[in-house]
Amino acid sequence: MYTKTAVTNKAYFDILKTKLAGGFHYNFKTLGEENPRFYTKGEGSRLWDIEGVEYLDFYAKFGAMILGHNNSEFNEALTEQIHKLLCVNHTELDIEVCDLLQYHFPSFERIRFGLSGTEIIQNALRISRAYTGKVKFLRFEGHYHGNMDNIMGGGYLEADPPIPVETLGDPRGTKGRIPHVFEQESYLIPWNDSDKLKETLEKYASDIAAVILEPVLVNGGGIKPKEGYLETVRKLCTQYGVVLIFDEVITGLRFGLSGAQGHYNVQPDLTILGKAIGGGIPVSVLGGKKEIMNLYETREVVHAGTFNGHPLGLAAIKATISILSGTQKEFYKKSEKYTREIKNTIETVALEYGFDISVTVLGSMMVFNACKTPLYQPSDLTFDTVLKNSILFKTLPNYGILISPMTRMFLNTMFEDRDLSFFKERIRPAIKESARLIDNVYNGNLTDM
Ligand code: PMP
Repeated sequence: MYTKTAVTNKAYFDILKTKLAGGFHYNFKTLGEENPRFYTKGEGSRLWDIEGVEYLDFYAKFGAMILGHNNSEFNEALTEQIHKLLCVNHTELDIEVCDLLQYHFPSFERIRFGLSGTEIIQNALRISRAYTGKVKFLRFEGHYHGNMDNIMGGGYLEADPPIPVETLGDPRGTKGRIPHVFEQESYLIPWNDSDKLKETLEKYASDIAAVILEPVLVNGGGIKPKEGYLETVRKLCTQYGVVLIFDEVITGLRFGLSGAQGHYNVQPDLTILGKAIGGGIPVSVLGGKKEIMNLYETREVVHAGTFNGHPLGLAAIKATISILSGTQKEFYKKSEKYTREIKNTIETVALEYGFDISVTVLGSMMVFNACKTPLYQPSDLTFDTVLKNSILFKTLPNYGILISPMTRMFLNTMFEDRDLSFFKERIRPAIKESARLIDNVYNGNLTDM
């Protein structure tokens, strides 16, 4: 039995590892925290761990915590729902939440709810297969759509047909994958390349039920779509009879209340929302065209799940959207100012210490890469950049700045000037130390890595 003797993160982790597999709630092959902190309290943009150390939380639970920690307005809404009714199949929230979503996402002619992005994406693929009578889906290099066998990991090797290939160093590679699942179900091509997409659809559209993508590539290095690219994808999918799925699990509320589809004014056939849509409560959304979603109405396609439409998840969506369009409607505007300052600070300080960092601002989030210019393709990520990124990822928390894997930084509505000051104070020594570690690596002194 655990008695409360562990007072350091390390001691706690050592005990936890004997109980929780690996001591982590999740892992990839190489990505993930090596020295986790165990948090006891959160307030706004700050977290405190069991050692009493304070952090600025840009990690934000992979971006889900868009309202910050201990947001009283959000907490009140959830508490009210818990006291009213915790868990039944349907409540009076159903219409209200669908209305809210449909108001902000006009492409949501019909809606279903799930709990995670992973799960609802599989449902989107299933309904696309049923709708088109075709089997495969097409996805893109560097995009992440959950941790199922058929869609996680794999790279592009310029083969024809472009079947995803699991490479040795792939952090999303896994043992135990269903054999041949990639070739049976999918193609994978480079993103932001209209010609490649056209060529692939021309050849293989008769097999392809759906094209799925992150409309802004957050997981693959923080890359914006090229001018006109999303419009081209939309046009080609219509032309070739392929369902276009926007995976807006991250982008959903990060560019405003209407997602990347609102920001770029491109309407997909199906959309996935997750993470921030529930403000920290696990809930996901599948929204899209009536003629596709109709297959649920006719019951030709199954979509099951004990907790689908969970009242707490729906109350969380309602509260999140209401807060972002009510008391915190300045959030997106305010984010512009903060992200500008954060970007300038990081880029300037890194240069002072002799290396490049490029910060890409994507609405209320940022992705940085230790290279001179923003990425245009995930394949622009060189070994040098990945190495420096990983040193920064490991070092910043030691100076009180938490960032998400893939060097992502997420703002929340409670972020304020004193958080910016905290960041500015801490980032300089953090980058200085990172520069020292980078120098050690390049000079062959690996002892303190
Ligand atoms: N799609 C995208 C774009 C994501 O970033 C994620 C999570 N990182 C997922 C899908 C999977 O969502 P979940 O972790 O909720 O299953």
